[in-house]
Amino acid sequence: MNKDNITIVKTTNGKAKPSENALGFGKYFTDHMFVLDYDIDNGWHSPRVVPYEPITLDPAAMVFHYGQTVFEGLKAYYGTNGKTMLFRPEKNVERLNRSCNRLSIPEIDEELFLKGLKTLIAVEKEWIPKEDGTSLYIRPFILPTETNLRVAPANSYKFIIILSPVGAYYAEGIHPVAINVEKEYTRAVLGGTGTAKTAGNYCAGYKAQKKASEQGAAQVLWLDGVEKKYIEEVGSMNIFFKINGEVVTPELNGSILEGITRMSIIELLKKWGIPVTEKKISFEEFVQAYEDGIVEEVFGTGTAAVISPVGEFRFQDKIMIINNRETGELSKKLYDTITGIQTGKMEDELNWTI
Ligand code: PMP
Repeated sequence: MNKDNITIVKTTNGKAKPSENALGFGKYFTDHMFVLDYDIDNGWHSPRVVPYEPITLDPAAMVFHYGQTVFEGLKAYYGTNGKTMLFRPEKNVERLNRSCNRLSIPEIDEELFLKGLKTLIAVEKEWIPKEDGTSLYIRPFILPTETNLRVAPANSYKFIIILSPVGAYYAEGIHPVAINVEKEYTRAVLGGTGTAKTAGNYCAGYKAQKKASEQGAAQVLWLDGVEKKYIEEVGSMNIFFKINGEVVTPELNGSILEGITRMSIIELLKKWGIPVTEKKISFEEFVQAYEDGIVEEVFGTGTAAVISPVGEFRFQDKIMIINNRETGELSKKLYDTITGIQTGKMEDELNWTI
């Protein structure tokens, strides 16, 4: 049984590449994918890069019934001097395995994941878009393939990595957005699956997102699931506040997803000597700081946007405008630094890129 030699089968039918200024997000996929199979007797095996194509599954395959899936999201960048660059991919591998653990999916060897990823990206190098702000989005995911309706972990799985060239998140420059404070729906609860990247967490947020969109807001501010009191995340991003010179972000409490951008920002702020604290932050406490006039900046953080400044919060019939709906100095500096490191334009003093 082949456990770690990656075989490569190239397509004879390559697709035309889309225009770089109309990529959007997640619409186009490259010519190949990386695949691994799992079964009880052999563990993860048969690593291969194969032509991108549909997968055929039995209607009773477990993936269609109980949602035992996990995924990741990261990017490859066309760096200075034409180098292909990855940003802290080992952190995504570690997080995928933590998600696997939560969803009772067998973990994957970290070396093999990274080797598979690098091999696939080397095959698809020509698909990495070059325009400023564009990148090759990487979507690793695992699905249970066993044909069975019992409610229990599957005995067979597939791990797949697909790649999608994506456009600049801020085609017209970084701009603050409106956020709806959500008091009805909950994203995640303590003891639930909020710290895992699993499908159900995302569709569970659609109703609240629809409400936010109908009210003209871009995203949802998620509060804790028990008291609806403490701030957790914003949309599919972690959240930071700059209040009276200090940066604060909700502490990892067992229902917040551990963002890699979040982790990187905390490390950068510490390096810059800017005070940063991870703690419980109640929405009431934030409103008090807002009324005291000491809220300087608020921003979401994640792989897609890197930094997404908050221009206003909407809560019941109240609108709280942050920093005049302008991008704050710190938000801009963090955005420029992280995107600069990701693309090799800035020195990578913390050794984050490969
Ligand atoms: N929270 C949630 C719920 C997310 O889906 C994401 C995106 N992975 C994040 C936060 C940000 O994580 P990262 O910085 O690793 O993209």
